[in-house]
Amino acid sequence: MTLYERFEAAFMPNYGVPPVALARGEGCTVWDVEGNAYLDLIGGIATSSLGHAHPALVEAVSKQVATIAHTSNLFLHEPEVLLAEKLRSLLGSDTARVFLANSGTEANEAAYKLCVKYGKQTGRSYFVATENGFHGRTIGALSLTGKPAIRDQFGPYPVDVRFVPYGDADALKQAVTEDCIALFLEPTQGEAGVVPPPDGYFQQAREITEAAGALLVADEIQSAIGRTGHWFAHQVEGVTPDILTLAKGLGGGLPIGACVSFGKILFDKGEHGSTFGGNPVSCAAALAVLDTVDLGHVEQVAAGFRAALEGVSHPLLKGVRGRGLWLALVLNADRSAGVQTAAAKAGFLVNALQPDAVRLAPPLVITAEELQTFVDALPEVLDHA
Ligand SMILES: *Cc1c(COP(=O)(O)O)cnc(C)c1O
Repeated sequence: MTLYERFEAAFMPNYGVPPVALARGEGCTVWDVEGNAYLDLIGGIATSSLGHAHPALVEAVSKQVATIAHTSNLFLHEPEVLLAEKLRSLLGSDTARVFLANSGTEANEAAYKLCVKYGKQTGRSYFVATENGFHGRTIGALSLTGKPAIRDQFGPYPVDVRFVPYGDADALKQAVTEDCIALFLEPTQGEAGVVPPPDGYFQQAREITEAAGALLVADEIQSAIGRTGHWFAHQVEGVTPDILTLAKGLGGGLPIGACVSFGKILFDKGEHGSTFGGNPVSCAAALAVLDTVDLGHVEQVAAGFRAALEGVSHPLLKGVRGRGLWLALVLNADRSAGVQTAAAKAGFLVNALQPDAVRLAPPLVITAEELQTFVDALPEVLDHA
């Protein structure tokens, strides 16, 4: 039996059978089990910030796992303190307080619970979230996820969530009343296809929630940690949310999530917890990521990459959207699966995110030369899609 057949026999079918089995990686290159090399332009879904086997990550994780790998929250440890302090400093906030989890959905679950608490304190009754928004697969996060195909069959949900079209400030104004607990918002929608809102939308969301007394929760699980060329996506518009959630890129591939509250509402003792959350190894990895990511490098290679992609003229390519090293190639037809397959054959890992959108979210350490190899190959990849 092949590895693919064994996978299919042993696992639930929720992922289908992924088309490539990866064996190892180094820098921005990964190799499959047959020994074929690929340039990694998806980075484990915007997660492998430092690429693969980066010396800083390897050293931090190896050292930490050999020192102490787990304490539980019965005991504190220095890496978690250093990480929370580092996040506060990057956020430039003295009021920010951190809760560490293991994943994105758990970070949102913490945010959701904080909001429920706020709703009870203030007598508010419903959430607002966006159509096509994605916040995770656990019940709290899923209740806020605006994708009927993955949401509806697991309801009903314990809270009332009202969905508005993404990017429509008037719809937000209508929906966010004085009875609204919180607005959950991605600064750019990720899973929906790397869809940025109109300029100023996030700022308007801040003003509208502020005026109604509702919390603004920024889900930056995919967009933060340098992905857009800024540490945090809300910094692009100079807006501070009430609660911020992080995960993907933070651990550089190790599991970690964070829920940051800027002080309007906090958990009191005993109100939340996680056995693995904030474990020393993941914290050491996150510290290595935050010490290594170079925003100047991201901005520089991203600008060149974007310009080069926009210079590619092909009947299947409609355009490019996104920001920093977080882009979607928008197609003129529903052929993203074909693009993904053709790209893999040509030695590039990309992600067929939507039928007409291909996601690129490479490691933040990728070089201009590496990115150029993809630009050069793109017309032929599109030909074969
Ligand atoms: C990936 C993602 C999540 C869920 O994170 P998991 O680690 O898969 O649970 C939530 N919100 C956004 C915006 C994401 O991109």
